[in-house]
Amino acid sequence: MTAIAANTAAPIRSAPAREGLAIFGAGRAKEAGFESAQALLDAFELPRYRLAQIYRSATKELALSFDAMTSLPAALRRRLAERVRISSLRLVREAISDDKQTTKLLYALADGNEVEAVLMRHRSGRTTACISSQAGCALRCDFCATGQGGFTRHLSALEIFDQALDVARRARAEKRNLTNVVYMGMGEPFLNYDRVMDSVALLNDAAGFNLGARHITISTAGVVPGIEKFTKAGIQVNLAISLHAADDVLRTKLMPINKKWPIARLMRAARAYVARTHRKIFYEYVMLAGTNDSPDDARQLADLLGGPLHHVNLIPYNATDAPYSRSSPAAMRRFQAILRERGVPSTLRHTMGDDIAAACGQLRVDKQRGAFA
Ligand code: SAH
Repeated sequence: MTAIAANTAAPIRSAPAREGLAIFGAGRAKEAGFESAQALLDAFELPRYRLAQIYRSATKELALSFDAMTSLPAALRRRLAERVRISSLRLVREAISDDKQTTKLLYALADGNEVEAVLMRHRSGRTTACISSQAGCALRCDFCATGQGGFTRHLSALEIFDQALDVARRARAEKRNLTNVVYMGMGEPFLNYDRVMDSVALLNDAAGFNLGARHITISTAGVVPGIEKFTKAGIQVNLAISLHAADDVLRTKLMPINKKWPIARLMRAARAYVARTHRKIFYEYVMLAGTNDSPDDARQLADLLGGPLHHVNLIPYNATDAPYSRSSPAAMRRFQAILRERGVPSTLRHTMGDDIAAACGQLRVDKQRGAFA
């Protein structure tokens, strides 16, 4: 069993405690029109170990096709290729930033809905996949392109995992190893909790993709019941919370979810997480000129986050159709200096891929407008 399962403290239905192979087998079988992995095996008259071979080839060896799964007999590879898809995703658009650090990928799902993922090549050598958990998003954050389009549907665990798998294959082709996965693409992971946790189990499975839980980050807009469930799951996956304002009036304007779970309620859940797990929380704070970037905003944020195990990621805003613009470099530095004076650690994210609209949900919007046609 994987390391995260061993740390599971609470007797909740904990998806990560299930094996990656079982989730993979059931998911792929369902996509191919079978009721279960066993039904697929029966239809192909295969012993169970064949499924484990396929799983291993797909997730550990990052095979590009059934044909590349050389541990399988050639005839079987052909039969599988006819009936089963190697991925639930089809690439429809790809955009590479001028500095070559970021590749944005737009995928079509089997039903035609589209989601996006991003491959980020960090100068440090790290390689990160940013993946989506839903097609669209119900939360309608005022500044976010995904929110403007509304919610379409949840992604399955495989549809989520397949994004990381595809990014990992692309990275491998460039002799890079995928080192990190962040759930910061389209959608709200904690409104699709069980499938997201199943996808984490797939990422984390030592017999498969084998990405350490500490290299995975889930970002939430502040779905308090999700944070509470995640706290009890006791897993090592990192938690990021999109805060964006330390004042309820402003935060409600930016993020309507704040009406349901206001800052005090959110911070209560955050403190309980830190107390129980002793793990740091990452706070995302998108820097919007004249909206949330004043010295007073910085002081209010520092007051809110007083105490240990907090880290603020200051994110330069990527323009969308929304009536916001990015804070000036001077305003961002001033903001960070105030946090520093007050003992709140922060990182000013450098902008990756603005020229290809690498912010959440933007590639899809550009495509709808025909910009990539
Ligand atoms: N729903 C989750 C995860 C998806 S968004 C969440 O809200 O955390 C990942 C991050 O990108 C969030 O912090 C979100 O607020 C931020 N974001 C959305 N649109 C952006 C934009 N145009 N520029 C910069 N960051 C943006």
